[in-house]
Amino acid sequence: MDAGLLKQLGINQDQVVQGSQKQFPSYFDSARDKAQTIILNRVAKEFYPDPPHWAIPEEQLHRVFESYSLTGNWRKTNRQLGICRHGKKEISINFGHVNMTEEQCYRTIVHEYIHALQYLIFNTSGHDKQFWFYLHLCVPTLNKHLEQRIIK
Ligand SMILES: [Zn+2]
Repeated sequence: MDAGLLKQLGINQDQVVQGSQKQFPSYFDSARDKAQTIILNRVAKEFYPDPPHWAIPEEQLHRVFESYSLTGNWRKTNRQLGICRHGKKEISINFGHVNMTEEQCYRTIVHEYIHALQYLIFNTSGHDKQFWFYLHLCVPTLNKHLEQRIIK
């Protein structure tokens, strides 16, 4: 929409949701690939000469990536960045989030993949000690309390 007209109507540009915003952002594929790579590198047994007890076979990690589909949500929000739905085997990323960036997208995908891994491999869910252990292997968490509120 024309910026001058929006101003006249008292509408901010960011309040206007356009059809084109329903496309995955251009950085999406690289954020997903980077997330899968870091999980494989840090968690897969095959990458350790003497695998620690918590290491997981690469094949099982690939099963996690294949089992959960990545979808998007484009509603304007300042709340959730993403959610992992085990029933639908779906990870939804909120591209409408005011703080969504390539880095945030990458971190959110890692977070949700750890939930998927936890559920498929250990049959557990939620932000328990094991969840934070695997997440911290892959990415540092700046604020655990904030993160568990905004990334489900
Ligand atoms: Zn979470």
